[in-house]
Amino acid sequence: MTKFSDLNLNPKVLKAIEEAGYETPTPIQEGAIPPALEGRDVLGIAQTGTGKTASFTLPMITLLHRGRARARMPRSLVLCPTRELAAQVAENFDIYAKHTKLTKALLIGGVSFKEQDQLIDKGVDVLIATPGRLLDHFERGKLLLTGVQIMVVDEADRMLDMGFIPDIERIFGLTPFTRQTLFFSATMAPEIERITNTFLSNPERVEVARQASASETIAQHVVVFRPSRKDREGSEKRAVLRAMIESEGENCRNGIIFCNRKVDVDVVAKSMKKNGYDAAPIHGDLDQSTRMRTLDGFRDGTLRFLVASDVAARGLDIPNVSHVFNYDVPSHAEDYVHRIGRTGRAGREGRAMMISVPRDDKNLEAIERLIQTEIPRMDNPAKVGAAPNAPEPAAEEAKPARTRTRTRREKPAAAPAETVEQPQPQTPAAAEESRGKSRSRPRGGERRKGEREAEVVGMGDDMPSFIALSFAERRTG
Ligand code: AMP
Repeated sequence: MTKFSDLNLNPKVLKAIEEAGYETPTPIQEGAIPPALEGRDVLGIAQTGTGKTASFTLPMITLLHRGRARARMPRSLVLCPTRELAAQVAENFDIYAKHTKLTKALLIGGVSFKEQDQLIDKGVDVLIATPGRLLDHFERGKLLLTGVQIMVVDEADRMLDMGFIPDIERIFGLTPFTRQTLFFSATMAPEIERITNTFLSNPERVEVARQASASETIAQHVVVFRPSRKDREGSEKRAVLRAMIESEGENCRNGIIFCNRKVDVDVVAKSMKKNGYDAAPIHGDLDQSTRMRTLDGFRDGTLRFLVASDVAARGLDIPNVSHVFNYDVPSHAEDYVHRIGRTGRAGREGRAMMISVPRDDKNLEAIERLIQTEIPRMDNPAKVGAAPNAPEPAAEEAKPARTRTRTRREKPAAAPAETVEQPQPQTPAAAEESRGKSRSRPRGGERRKGEREAEVVGMGDDMPSFIALSFAERRTG
């Protein structure tokens, strides 16, 4: 088995790795570090969680160890698609470079930059940046990229999703032709292939298999349940979530709750708070300082639950999470592996629990196919939802009987039922999501219907059936 000491890394880097507690290099590190140290271009096809950050940071530190930075001329450049990722790379750099004298600056939008500007003015060895912010600085004449010896592009496929490819091409053009390029992407879309063909020179291609299996230290469970009524799905799922958390007791030290949509991230976080849980949302529509504050709180243990969307959580390295809750079954099976991979890290025990409703059946099957395991079913810990073997309510059921059944359920369900308002969507996409939602769960329509039914039943359980029939007829008429 390859050891870090076999990789020709600088002894100061080796010392930092040892102190970080790493014993052996991960496959991407084993594959990328040797060619990077030889000065070759590297094309790493790997995703977060594989140790890819260290696979470019460690050789960079070793290569830059000798030499000094000049004013406004960084010696290396790491481009990241998001501020969080850039901040994370910077944290990694601090850990691995702590026994060296190398300096770094972090150039990201949304926070104050006076200090970073001063650092750049003095000269930094490593500049970690998001593309837009970097170009802003460049255009203001604050920065020269002609001293860049090593350029790293991290998460290129995500840059593509976010429309940064033209910026990346421009930045490539501003750096010297002789630079070394370390390029990372989880997938190789045709556009990414084109970029690598244009800007990389005879790269060593290191591909790490997509993670298709979940760590064995993660205990997985799913509650398969059917809401008692379609329009109660949300409140009942939230009741199931709370009951799941309670069933874990003190073992649930902290957790990430994943939702498929931004609107649900907000609704779930609000509902959790209302029910006395220490929870906060994180998604792309929140401003930078709120996101940073939330993440910091979660990392340092002052926030117990992080309610997140896949996009916001992707790439975030948050160690030491005891639980992952999938409030929704993800629609891409691979997302399930990523989500639950937030727990059970580095050999620790972790627990992953998911809520599945009937329309998730296909996605649940796809996940089980991908991980080649049947996720153990657990009993619904909450007293909500339809009885396990209850027939689907027939559309043309006898109206009076249906009226009575619904009302009886309505009363006891009043405890978990909540009135969490839908937040106002902040982006066109969110607005679109929200419109879709109001179409599928008619707000006024169905509620009014329920209310009228309640009025009918308010006449008493012994109401003659012809009275209800006359109401029902008027409703449909
Ligand atoms: P990354 O894919 O770069 O986001 O890294 C995922 C996590 O793995 C981070 O928490 C790293 O600190 C950790 N890590 C990276 N390399 C190793 C290693 N060789 N051994 C153990 N943990 C590692």
